[in-house]
Amino acid sequence: MAEDCLFCKIIAGDIPSRKVYSDESVYAFHDINPAAPTHILVIPKKHLKAVNAAGSEDEALLGKLLLAANKIAEQEGLADEGFRYVINTGDQGGQTVYHLHLHILGGRQCTWPPG
Ligand code: 5GP
Ligand code: ZN
Repeated sequence: MAEDCLFCKIIAGDIPSRKVYSDESVYAFHDINPAAPTHILVIPKKHLKAVNAAGSEDEALLGKLLLAANKIAEQEGLADEGFRYVINTGDQGGQTVYHLHLHILGGRQCTWPPG
């Protein structure tokens, strides 16, 4: 738990969220400002400020994050049509919340390149 971290407060239940999934290492919830019909954020319960703040000790955690996201995408009915994972990293990467999060975007055709 990091002080003044929005997503740590969501994990703690201090800020409400629409939970999609939770296990010992991972929490997932609906994005408050969806950019697609399905827009879910998948986050590690451990505070890491960005994906590139992970170290070798986080190897298993990063795997769990992706495997949980796969399970959620399946449960949300996105797996057949396809979906997109996004991890914005740093200012130019478009990151606004500095607690690692994987976006799951689905339910519409995604375009390439992204903005
Ligand atoms: P980033 O731009 O850092 O990759 O993504 C941050 C995401 O968090 C944004 O899509 C934004 O809509 C979402 N977000 C910001 N504040 C809240 C909040 O209080 N609750 C929820 N559920 N999502 C939030
Ligand atoms: Zn945090």
